[in-house]
Amino acid sequence: AATAVAAEEEPITPPVQVHYTQLLINGQFVDAASAFSSASLYCGKTFPTLDPRTGEVIAHVAEGEAEDVNRAVAAARKAFDEGSWPRMTAYDRSRIMYRFADLIEKHNNEIAALETWDNGKPYEQAAEMEIPSLTRVIRYYAGWADKIHGLTVPADGPHHVQVLHEPIGVAGQIIPWNFPLLLYGWKVGPALACGNTIVVKTAEQTPLSALYVSKLAHEVPSAVQVLTVDITSANVDSTYFHDKDPFPFPAFQMKAGLPPGVLNVISGFGPTAGASLASHMNVDKLSFTGSTDTGRIVLELAARSNLKPVTLELGGKSPFIVCEDADVDKAVELAHRALFFNQGQCCCSGSRTFVHEHVYDEFVEKAKERALKRTVGDPFRKGVEQGPQIDEKQFNKTLDYIRSGVESGATLQAGGGRVGSKGYFIQPTIFSDVKDEMTIAREEIFGPVQSILKFKNIDEVMVRANATRYGLAAGVFTKNLNTANTLIRGLKVGTVWINCFFVFDAAIPFGGFKMSGQGREKGMYGLKNYLQVKAVVTPLENPAW
Ligand code: ADP
Repeated sequence: AATAVAAEEEPITPPVQVHYTQLLINGQFVDAASAFSSASLYCGKTFPTLDPRTGEVIAHVAEGEAEDVNRAVAAARKAFDEGSWPRMTAYDRSRIMYRFADLIEKHNNEIAALETWDNGKPYEQAAEMEIPSLTRVIRYYAGWADKIHGLTVPADGPHHVQVLHEPIGVAGQIIPWNFPLLLYGWKVGPALACGNTIVVKTAEQTPLSALYVSKLAHEVPSAVQVLTVDITSANVDSTYFHDKDPFPFPAFQMKAGLPPGVLNVISGFGPTAGASLASHMNVDKLSFTGSTDTGRIVLELAARSNLKPVTLELGGKSPFIVCEDADVDKAVELAHRALFFNQGQCCCSGSRTFVHEHVYDEFVEKAKERALKRTVGDPFRKGVEQGPQIDEKQFNKTLDYIRSGVESGATLQAGGGRVGSKGYFIQPTIFSDVKDEMTIAREEIFGPVQSILKFKNIDEVMVRANATRYGLAAGVFTKNLNTANTLIRGLKVGTVWINCFFVFDAAIPFGGFKMSGQGREKGMYGLKNYLQVKAVVTPLENPAW
């Protein structure tokens, strides 16, 4: 099989520096509570975060563990129970969130560079897609903050019945490494809008960008800084500053964005920091994005502790169905992006490409041509479409799946190996003649490996597309309205994209059927995760009412 373009050259120096490596607790950067074992050198525990282009250390980051999670949850608890955030007007919350979004936008390129460095995704994609999408989703939920309201219910009897929608409390949010900031936005945005306080646990592979962004949330953009310069002046714009806020006066000028304790960020590992958060008795809500296996663990931890409600966004093996009447060139290009985008590391990748037998040969040929043109290399280089996989574990796992595909008898059309000799780059790989029972057609690979399967008719492909424990998304390519409608109704998935793929608007709900998850994020559905419902019944004195 042919290879893609390799970039065997010195890595480009990232156009950004790492400023923040500590834990963000109660609005302050602090070291981890546990120390290195060396008694002579007291220093909070750290772990290295690596550059996937080379496997070299970018920075040593504070390693949060149970004690740190306790501290962060205590800060979030206090900010919720006593602080201004859930008590200020929704309009003020919304304004702070808009300012937060403005700051993210202002620092878009630095944030994107940090993300590329830590994650390996192409800088252009981070700068033009992921970070702007983060800004968008924060603005989207800023817009909701003052539009969240309950209802009144026409109950039987002389009663006035109201339903209040209240913030749920302290939200624990566990984030994966594939879209460290986009998925942060999907969770932090709605939780803040509803007036909750938050403890985020970032993925151990990608701790840097959320620290940077969360620090910004505590600041005021320069355009409005002038309003807060003099707190003693009568003109001070401090409507969002509540006198019960615990931070001292001098800090106010520096940190008049989010009050301290509202948004805490813990870097660290899953079985320690993540598990502490999932099982914490003082966390009122858990939201998790990651693998199905880990989702099952956190759901169990939540159930065994305080029965906190859990939102899960898990794995997938999404079908991408190309019908015989589809525009083949367009379908080839979108199927390519549906699989290879983000180095194949998307929970909703179109990882089973079903192609109708009448267009199958043409499709395979064109898909191969496209994959061979895909530029793989340093993600900081202009025009590069694919960077390295996140880490050695994912790199090896993907190569194992490629071996499994070859051994099970699928035809290797392109790729099949690594690119270069350092870092975690993998050739865009295509298998045709893939059969449903093969491991590569059943398990989530999470790498740049496209599996193409042949089908004969719609009824058959629907059954095969649904024959998986997952149900995250599906793509359907057809010009026939009836075919589209049949598949829309029949596919057991959370998102159906017709003649398109990967359309992620902040307003569109996203989530899975079956073992792809529970609940929905984004859109107005995302708010439900962070609201409690309180029914209030008042007798009506005058029964005539
Ligand atoms: P992957 O296997 O691709 O790294 P995971 O689902 O394990 O994906 O990771 C997603 C997130 O879940 C990360 O932030 C990770 O640290 C966290 N995590 C992993 N294991 C656990 C666990 N046992 N409890 C809580 N969180 C965990």
